[in-house]
Amino acid sequence: MVARRWQISDLDPIPRLGLIEEPSPITELPQLAAQLGLGTLAVKRDDQIGALHGGNKPRKLDYLLAVPPFSEAKRWAALGAIGSGNMVALTAAAAQLDRHVEAHLFWEPLSEGVVDNLAFVASGPTSMRFHLSRFTAVLRRPALVLGSSSTDPAVLPVGSTNPRSTLGSLRAGLELADQIAAGELPTPDRLYVALGTGGTSVGISLGLAMAGLDTEVIAVAVVEHPFTTWSQMTRLRHQVVAFSDQQGLDLSAHRAPDRFHIERSQLGPGYAIVTPQSNQACQRLADAGVTLEPIYTGKAMAALLAAAAGGHNRGKNILFWNTRHGGPLPCSETWRCTLPPALVSRLNRSSGQRAVVGGCS
Ligand SMILES: *Cc1c(COP(=O)(O)O)cnc(C)c1O
Repeated sequence: MVARRWQISDLDPIPRLGLIEEPSPITELPQLAAQLGLGTLAVKRDDQIGALHGGNKPRKLDYLLAVPPFSEAKRWAALGAIGSGNMVALTAAAAQLDRHVEAHLFWEPLSEGVVDNLAFVASGPTSMRFHLSRFTAVLRRPALVLGSSSTDPAVLPVGSTNPRSTLGSLRAGLELADQIAAGELPTPDRLYVALGTGGTSVGISLGLAMAGLDTEVIAVAVVEHPFTTWSQMTRLRHQVVAFSDQQGLDLSAHRAPDRFHIERSQLGPGYAIVTPQSNQACQRLADAGVTLEPIYTGKAMAALLAAAAGGHNRGKNILFWNTRHGGPLPCSETWRCTLPPALVSRLNRSSGQRAVVGGCS
């Protein structure tokens, strides 16, 4: 049986805000490809998406925020690390759509970009609550992860991932297929992308399968194993197929994730903890003109570099999906004054570890 080839326009009946109309650009890195022994190395530049300062989160919010309860609620609540890219995109959406964000922030070490993201969130239409860790946040406010029927505030799923928002990443997979068909890049043999909640990698992989491509997706886990299991990713894929069916798209031919691999070699000590490999990967890409951060994209690129160093992917066409937001982010001069006092003292205690930098004085 020949499977149907899906197009982006097949998604038209499903509501979205329409934040993203243009494909994110492709950058070829021929010198780095040659150094690594690859056939080609292309980067998918979600950092250059204009909406909500770019990155992978606007793609999810495009679908998520278009329907109730989020489309109706005046206030949104979400959980994230103090440097959360999801909170950045949500804050930008709130500013654009005249909403308010209740940001439940938990501590993470001050790696590159963390304070800049916090400054942006603190400068937006937000109120912040500080929790010492992911775990204490969840114990105090279980609704932040278990979901809630509350509409004031309406609670976003963790990482803005649910079956509906994953359509934004699925759409990204179809978008890449269009760019391949237009000759912008060769069909990748392998695609490297960071795996947090999995919405991005699972959605992209499904979109590529729907377009008839057999690119292997290497989803590089940046979160601990219990939260990134194969069965969780398979379940999300099944949920997206079931949800699409309710929306009138029959994706039953693509239930099984056949070309999806979870790579666990780059997590290091844990989520949000920088590794020497991720730092080196950020440096290597900065030299090639692409800015990464060390928590997600640095670890995903480190997996690509480690594979190449091991003689893998020789002569192959490789794609790296840059999920980082664009920069620099604007912030107000007084952003520090709006932080919860407990967060201020925690920041001050850590500033010996790394100077609290950013665009603000
Ligand atoms: C959130 C995020 C991811 C992870 O996306 P998931 O859909 O949660 O797997 C990857 N990269 C960056 C930069 C992010 O902010």
